Parts: sequence; C-alpha cells; structure tokens
Amino acid sequence: MAYTNSPMVAYTKLSPNHSGQRTHSIDRITPHCVVGQCSVETLGNIFYPTSKQASCQYGIGADGRVGMYVEEKNRSWCTSSKENDQRAITIECASDTTSPYAFKDIVYQTLIKLCVDICKRNGKNKLLWLGDKSKTLAYEPKEGEMVLTVHRWYANKSCPGDWMHARMGDLAAKVTAQLGGTTTTTPEPVKEETQTVTPVATSTSDNEKTIWDFLKGKGLNDFAVAGIMGNLYAESGLRPNNLQNTYEKKLGMTDDQYTAAVDKGTYGNFVKDSAGYGLAQWTYWSRKQALLEFAKAAGKSIGDLAMQLDFLWKELQTYTGTMKLLKAAESVKAASNAILTGYEKPADQGTSVQNKRAGYGVTYYDKYAGKTTTTLSASGTLYRVQVGAFSKKENADKQLAAVQAKGFDSFITKVGNLYKVQVGAYSVKSNADAQLNRLKAAGFSDAFITTAGAGTVVATTPAATKTVEELAREVIAGKWGNGDDRKKALTDAGYDYSAVQQAVNSILA
Ligand SMILES: [Zn+2]
Repeated sequence: MAYTNSPMVAYTKLSPNHSGQRTHSIDRITPHCVVGQCSVETLGNIFYPTSKQASCQYGIGADGRVGMYVEEKNRSWCTSSKENDQRAITIECASDTTSPYAFKDIVYQTLIKLCVDICKRNGKNKLLWLGDKSKTLAYEPKEGEMVLTVHRWYANKSCPGDWMHARMGDLAAKVTAQLGGTTTTTPEPVKEETQTVTPVATSTSDNEKTIWDFLKGKGLNDFAVAGIMGNLYAESGLRPNNLQNTYEKKLGMTDDQYTAAVDKGTYGNFVKDSAGYGLAQWTYWSRKQALLEFAKAAGKSIGDLAMQLDFLWKELQTYTGTMKLLKAAESVKAASNAILTGYEKPADQGTSVQNKRAGYGVTYYDKYAGKTTTTLSASGTLYRVQVGAFSKKENADKQLAAVQAKGFDSFITKVGNLYKVQVGAYSVKSNADAQLNRLKAAGFSDAFITTAGAGTVVATTPAATKTVEELAREVIAGKWGNGDDRKKALTDAGYDYSAVQQAVNSILA
C-alpha cells in the first residue's frame, strides 16, 4: 500500500530527524504527551534542528490543529524504540506540564479523528488497546488491525501521561466504533522463526519437489511458487510434522510423538495449545481447528504432506489480496513478501526477515524454475544484476553491506569458488536495466547484468550485521570453535567477543 499523509494537517514543517523510508508497514499508533500546552508551530521549531535528534509524525496543538513533521512513509524518532517507530505513526499531543499531563478536550477529540483517518488510509478497520506491554509486543495484528502502543514501555518515562494512559481503551473503542468495527478480540499468539539456515539438499528434498510440483500444478508462476516455498522453509523447514521447537520442550514430545498423539486422539489439545505446527506453522486455534477437521475428513494423518498442501491451497484462496499479489509477482522477492506480510505474518516482518525468506525462495527458484513439465515459463532466461564477485566471503560481506546501506535488496550467492553479490534477478530485461541504472547512480559503477546460471544463496545479510543473540546461538551450535580460536574468529569478523560471550553465558545460565 502506498503511504499517504493526513488531510487534517494544517501546518507542515518537515524535520530532518528521521530514518528515511520505514521498513515495516504501519500497524501501530503511539500517542505521546508534549508536556506543554504548545502550538503546532512551536512543535515544528522543536523538531527542526538536527541537534534535537527527535521528531514525530504528527503533533496536535493546544488549539486542536494538526501539524506534520515526518511524513508517514518515513520512520520518525519518537518512542525510544526503532522497532516501534518502524511500524508506528507517532503523535505528540499538547498537554499540561505536570502529572497527570492532561490534554484539553479539543486535543483529545482531534486525536480520535486523526486516528480514524490514519486507520482508514492505511486499510485498518479496528484500533486495539491490549493494555499490557508484553501482550502487545507479542501480538501479531491481523488484517485490518491497528494496535496502540505507549512510550513508557520503552523508556523510563510517564509518557503519554496518566491522563492519556487511562483513556487508551476509550480511544481504541471510539476509533473502532467510527470505523464500523467492534472491539472484542482474542490475540493471536506470536509465531517464532524456526529456521536460521539456508536450504540445503537434505532429507526434505523430496518434499521440496512435491511442494514445487503441487503449487506449479495450481497454475502459479515460478516466482510465486518460490516465494511461497521460501516462507514455508522459514516456518517449518518444509517438514509437515514440524512442531514449533519451543513446544517440543514444553509438551515433552518430539515432532513424531506429537503427530502420532494427535492422530490417535491421545493428545486432545491440538487446537488450543498455541503451538505452531506443520508446513506453515499454523498456530492460531481457528486455523488449527480447520486443519484438524480437514485431515479427519480426508482420513489422513495431521502430518501428511499432501493433505497439508491441499489445506494450504484452500486457505490461500481466502487471502484474496495475497493471491492477487502472487499472481502478479515479477520477482521471487515480491511473491515472498506477499506471503510474509499477508499470509504468514510473523511478528518480525522487517528487512532482514524479508531478505532471508526471499533468499530461501531464490534457492528454490534456481533449483526448479523452468524445469517442471506442467507449465514451462515462456522465457527461461533470468537477468541477474551483479555488483561484484569475490573469492573471500568477508569481502563479499563488505560489498553486501555497502549495497544494502544504499537501500538495495541484495544477497550473496556462491557459484563455484566465487561469492557473488547480486541485486535481484528479473525475467524482464528492462527491469534489470532499470535496477542497473539505479545501482550505477548510487556509485556502483562496476555493476553489470549477467545471465550466468544460479549459485546457492549463502547470505542475505552481511556477516557483520548479525546480532549478538544470533552469534551467541551460532557459538552454542559450535560454529565459532572454542577458546582462543573462537575469540580470534569473532574478533577477525569484526564482532565484540566479550558481548557475544556474555550472551552465550546468559543463554546457557
Ligand atoms: Zn513520548
């Protein structure tokens, strides 16, 4: 959805204090208190100097007028949390200077109208206040849902003040009523990323081929099929009997034991146990219930691959927007994002998750595209835009970081002994040309287009941008060696060894 701005804006003074285009679609609103009964002009002057290092999308002055300081398409610096601000519209409201930081009635009435306007323009018909920090941050908004968050969850502040905090539920109810919806909801539990590695040919390779052929048989193009499969891989490793890892421990059952117990009826809580299960890691109770009924009607095991594919396809038909995007997709990335944001909807849909899933998809594309007999694509040629090939992975990582820093989606693919940094693959040559021109304009004068064959995608984020948490898990998995070797390897790769070690210790504690 294209980003727009509110028609309620009466005064605009754009602040330089923002991060550019947001990386997450808008699904939160965060109201703040200014701590001052000021005007929209004053707010504009406050957020204008770069030295201020702060901003917000909108401000509501003491007279009820609305000012705009950061356009909705960009990420503002408002809530002491980049994760929140990437997906939130932030609104500063004129308030008293002392607790409970009350708003004037006209300010509150304007806030209600502004939230209605924001929801409408961003395709939402419900505004939710879940009231609880951990519940809210774990909540995965369903289609049409906008969620309220507050600054005090992220910093040692009272913002939005006790006056407004006490009215958050009222705000949600009034806005939702004006949008024509009702406010009762049961939060859908958050799904977790279960896979962190690049797909390789393993025992799931038979599943791969089965899934590819099934989806191709439904008439989808290669990009769409690869995009779906990359997501399924991220969810379940393409294993239909996959029980969400954290629940294996919690329930004391392996994938096989859980599947058998559900089939035999000795485990009766399949529908309501909140455990992700199967190819798409179905989690929410109504979807698990539908899956169970579907399996029973077919006389198949709950872990049966063909049954789950039929179910997935049936379910997908009800996601009409996602299906439309899939059918129109001109790249694996576009298809992958359609599934990620419209169908799977995990809590984290940020750039690195998008790149990771699209990277998995590209691997399937490279392996299977154009090779199925059911539907041969008209043009088998793929135009890959490349910005360098390196014999050392570190150097490819550096180039990848440089390319991504300029806003290009890119990945490293290994072909023979070379690590190639590529920015997309296109079936239409003119699209590749356009991307090439953008790269050259961004200073990558050596970029070129290649139709050379596929490699294996080995990275979608530069090694140096791994989080301490990711590294700690890798260390525990034995990927960084032991003792001094580990210290040297991490340090050479540009990481803070002691921070990683500390995280390892706290995970193992
Ligand atoms: Zn605040």
